[in-house]
Parts: sequence; structure tokens; C-alpha cells
Amino acid sequence: MSAASGLVWRDGEAADLVVRGARALDPRTGVDDTLDLVVRNGEIIELAEPGAATELEGAETIEAEGLLALPAFVDPHVHFRVPGQEHKEDLETGTRAAAAGGYCAVVAMANTEPAIDSAAVLGSVRERAEREASIPVGFVATVTKDMGGEELTEMAEMADAGAVGFSDDGLPISNGRVLRRALQYQRLAGRVIALHEEDPDLSGDGVMHEGDVSAVLGLAGIPAASESTAIARDCALALYEGARIHVQHLSARASVEEIRRAKEAGVEVTCEATPHHLTLTDEEVRSLDSRFKMNPPLRTEDDRQALIEALRDGTIDCVATDHAPHAPEDKEVPFEQAAMGVTGLEKAFSVLHTDLVLPGILDLELLVERMTAGGIPFGIEPPRLEAGAAANIALVDPEAEWVVGADGYESRSHNSCFVGRTLTGRVQMTVAGGRVAFRQRSFAMGVA
Ligand SMILES: [Zn+2]
Ligand SMILES: [Zn+2]
Repeated sequence: MSAASGLVWRDGEAADLVVRGARALDPRTGVDDTLDLVVRNGEIIELAEPGAATELEGAETIEAEGLLALPAFVDPHVHFRVPGQEHKEDLETGTRAAAAGGYCAVVAMANTEPAIDSAAVLGSVRERAEREASIPVGFVATVTKDMGGEELTEMAEMADAGAVGFSDDGLPISNGRVLRRALQYQRLAGRVIALHEEDPDLSGDGVMHEGDVSAVLGLAGIPAASESTAIARDCALALYEGARIHVQHLSARASVEEIRRAKEAGVEVTCEATPHHLTLTDEEVRSLDSRFKMNPPLRTEDDRQALIEALRDGTIDCVATDHAPHAPEDKEVPFEQAAMGVTGLEKAFSVLHTDLVLPGILDLELLVERMTAGGIPFGIEPPRLEAGAAANIALVDPEAEWVVGADGYESRSHNSCFVGRTLTGRVQMTVAGGRVAFRQRSFAMGVA
């Protein structure tokens, strides 16, 4: 990963490491073997038979028997709240949370205060990331000025200034004429447009999925068609303009079917799904606990099954957390009034490992592929475990049990929908961009 990819983070010491005896697993290179991994000056220089690795003077030795060495994860969708809402998260706490979750790169959304809608605001957040971010961060800029949905931003100028893509996430681009012009610019600027798909008129005042549970609770619902009809329109526009789009946080079977059709029709479209939509349903909302309030909302078991199937067959390209930190005062209010959104970075892998891999629903290898593919729509190369590659490695103890929230969080915000859950599998150490970005406090190590 280089500055050319638009990623920025702070300077640090390049890692010299010998990771001994881990199960190295990389779906892209086909590696799946017990190996020693040698990292010199932040670069993987060797994958060797156990005990056969080159001695590296002064390097830290990590005894990693029983651990997985994975290419670290890439999240295409996080909210770091900078500028303007640093009481919820900032670049230091956000990237620390990401590193704790095994991520080596993230793409930060632009619905900040002010929105990242000019080269000046973009330049200032990139400068802050150069001082504060412990892992590489790519920033998208907004499609429309102040996310007003009407006037386009200077997309070409912001692409030159380092935007990795464009998104008004938080809000849809409802006006088809505006999106159409944005797609025409997308072809020129070359960076992807990531879309939060929703028809605000269909969503109305909805606070949860519209279905049996919302009817019982008497809460206003957001129908699945609010998402799927917006996806259908935008895929048709992308095809017509020959543009490239990335659809964010798919939540419904109907949406999966639209994407499947669009891909078959040759639309240049990629898409993502979140750990919460892949593991939870609207049944959780019966508790009226605002930790289960997010947009798009948790939907039905049938929708969840469709998402899993789509993740498996590649209709869904990658996993995104949509990490959305909120202050307690925004969440500790009645369900109808609570802010939408949940944190996600620190336990995304553990949740999906526990709920989908261990029960045999998803192969570990496939999960790793989908969790490392998030940068591809934004031109960020997926990390690889091979000689010559920058060291981007997540060391995971697949048997470690832990309780979400029991040791606190790295994130400044605590609005996790998995708090109190016992999960199996935990990131022990993360190397991002060639530097050690995180290690569990309990994780043993030694220096040769
Ligand atoms: Zn969104
Ligand atoms: Zn979002």
C-alpha cells in the first residue's frame, strides 16, 4: 500500500518480526500451511517451513503455534466522526479500534461536520490522519455539496487531492438527475461512487424493519423495498452511463436479487454486507434496546439467509462494519428517538467466526477473502501473505473466548449490538502497513 492508493497514516517504526509456527492462510495466494513468517523493515521477506526461517538479528520473535496468521482485513465503510464529532470517535481511537479488530486499512465516510465536500476539508482530515492514524485510512469525499443531494462537489479536484472514492453515505442520492451527472463524472474521475440505497419517501419515519415484529411493537417500519427499489434504479443508471458503483450495507433478499441481476447484466457494481445484518434479525428489536437500531435495519431470518448465500456465492463482494460510533446520550433514550448505528470494528471477525464459521455455515477461507476484499472497489490492493508484500497481518487465536465489552473498548463509543456476547476467536496482534499497530495486552512475545 502506498500514498498513491490514497491511504494516509502516521509514521512509525517498521516491523522486524519472526512469527513462528502459525497456520498461515491466504485465499489469494493459496497458502494454507504451518509456516514461519519473516518480516524485515515492514515487508514480508519469507514464508518458511517451521524452524527453517532466516535468522533476523534484533527481530522480535512471536511464538504463534495454534494461531492463525491471516492477511489483515480491509473495511470499506467506517465512520470516524472527524471533523466535528470527536466526542464520538477520532482518528486515533477509530484506527485503534480497527487495529484491535485485525484491520490494516479502512475507508472513512464523509458525513462529518462539516462534510468532506471540498479539497480543503479533505486535505485537513488527511493531515490529521498523518498525525493520528495508527493504520492506513482512505477518505471518501461527498458526491453533493454539504450532502444536500442537489449540487455536485468538485469530484475531479478531490480525486486529485486524494479521495479514494465518493459517497453521501448516511443519506441516499434521491434525485436521479443528480446521480446521473455524478456517474458521468465518475467515469472521468475514475473513483468509485459508494451508495447508501434508500428511498426516503418509502422509509418515512420508520425506525425498524417493516414486518411482523414492527406490527406487534407498533413501531413505524422501513420496508425492504425502500432499499431494493433504490438499488434497481441506480444499477440501471450505472449501466446506462457505463459508470462504476459500490452498494453499501445490503440488508434484504430483494436487494441481493437486484444486485445479482445487475451483475449478470454487466453492471459494474460491487457491494458489501455487515456482520450485524449477517448474524442478527429484527427479532432482537423486541427488546426495544436501542443498540439494535441502525439503518438499514435488521431484517428477517429469510433476508439474513439471502445475505449469507450471497456472501458465499460472491454476489456480495466484501464485509463492511459500517462502524458508527455514537455518544451515550444519543443511544440511551427510547428506541424511537435513538440515533441509528452501531460500532463494529473490534469484533467483526470474532462475530462472523463464532456465528458463521464455527457452525459450518461459512468456510474460514471464504470469510477471510470477503474480509480482505473491502478496499478493491476503492483501488486499494488486498493484502497478501507472500514474499515481497508489505506486512499486513492479523494474528488470531481461533480458540480464545472473550466477552464483548468485558475489557472495555478501544473505540471511544460503546454502542455495540454484541455487548455481553461470548465470542470464540480473537485478534492477538495486527501488523498494518508494515508496522505493529496492535497487540492484546495478554499476548506473550520475546525479542531474539
Ligand atoms: Zn449508510
Ligand atoms: Zn455508514
